[in-house]
Amino acid sequence: MLKLDFHPAGRHFLQIPGPSPVPDRILRAMSYPTIDHRGPEFGALGLKVIEGIKKIFKTQQPVVIYPASGTGAWEAALVNTLSPGDTVLMFETGHFATLWKKMAESLGLKPEFLGLPGIEGWRRGVQPQMIEARLRADTGHLIKAVCVVHNETSTGVTSDIAAVRQAIDAAGHPALLLVDTISGLACADYRHDDWGVDVTVSGSQKGLMLPPGISFNAVSPKALAASKQAKLPRAFWGWDEIIEMNATGYWPYTPNTNLLYGLSEALEMILDEGLDNVFARHERLAEACRRAVTAWGLEIQCADPAVYSPVLTGVMTPEGVDADAVRKVIYERFDMSLGTGLGKMKGRMFRIGHLGDCNDLMLMATLSGCEMGLRLAGVPLAASGLPAAMDYLVAEAKVKALKAAA
Ligand SMILES: *Cc1c(COP(=O)(O)O)cnc(C)c1O
Repeated sequence: MLKLDFHPAGRHFLQIPGPSPVPDRILRAMSYPTIDHRGPEFGALGLKVIEGIKKIFKTQQPVVIYPASGTGAWEAALVNTLSPGDTVLMFETGHFATLWKKMAESLGLKPEFLGLPGIEGWRRGVQPQMIEARLRADTGHLIKAVCVVHNETSTGVTSDIAAVRQAIDAAGHPALLLVDTISGLACADYRHDDWGVDVTVSGSQKGLMLPPGISFNAVSPKALAASKQAKLPRAFWGWDEIIEMNATGYWPYTPNTNLLYGLSEALEMILDEGLDNVFARHERLAEACRRAVTAWGLEIQCADPAVYSPVLTGVMTPEGVDADAVRKVIYERFDMSLGTGLGKMKGRMFRIGHLGDCNDLMLMATLSGCEMGLRLAGVPLAASGLPAAMDYLVAEAKVKALKAAA
């Protein structure tokens, strides 16, 4: 039995693809006393985070903040824009796309699930040409929304959202575009306005480096107009009242005050580093991670290098090796958490998170833990992956030094 006050020496390595490690600076900000959510101080905090978060979504439009996990914001996106029986086109990229589709069914929508056969869809991401073909065939415009996952956290695939927008436009179809970037936001470039996304769904505990507990809907004018006609029942999730009260920095109910302190701090950290630098750091860590996996002789879950995720890397274990047994060894021996294989990939893969508050040495320690655990679990490796990752990180550091000197 694990005792609840069990504290091994040193730091736990939380390398699951969300929740990601919360920086001390954010934890400290969250420890400020809770204030009156109707008082003047709160209004200033509210306005700061409501305006600040727009920079992360790259939008001028309203971003609604809910005291809920990402799943709540998924529901909000659907119930604010759609009516019972509406057909929605969803794309099977993995476990999270599958869960969103199940939710659509539970809400009385008619989701149509497009995808590649078998696990191919779980390795290659959204295929915009399939969406375009399906929308062209829908001459009566029965499809009311296209729903896709930007960064599929169950596999490590980041789909091209601009290409999905182009596919919808090429088909001349009026469907709304709803995108889940719960794990992509603040890790990979995301452009709510430029990409013509109608509702973007995100959450706090992935790239934003916060604990779980708040989530977001960025809302386009077209989505706002659709919400006036949409007939799915909604109360708590309704945008209207929240957006109205947000104008002065408040909410119609008690918002998550201490998480908003954390959000305020996270926004400062991300904007100080600069979004482009944040994205480049994620790309660098992901590339180093993939080089280690490849050197081990193991297969990366994402089979298309064009859509490799900067957020996490899915590692497939050889036939006959239970990936969860490897994870267990790593957890028990090295105090490191890795993501489990979800849905169709249960037992076949583990996921290494390298998102949020992560740097080169944290990644190297993570890869060391993986490699030692793989060896302990008896998985045959072609070679050590550590030199491959280090060589890449050193080369990148040299390039950076040269650029700085130039
Ligand atoms: C984490 C995640 C979710 C679920 O969010 P919760 O906060 O667990 O409700 C949904 N979609 C994606 C892509 C995610 O990464």
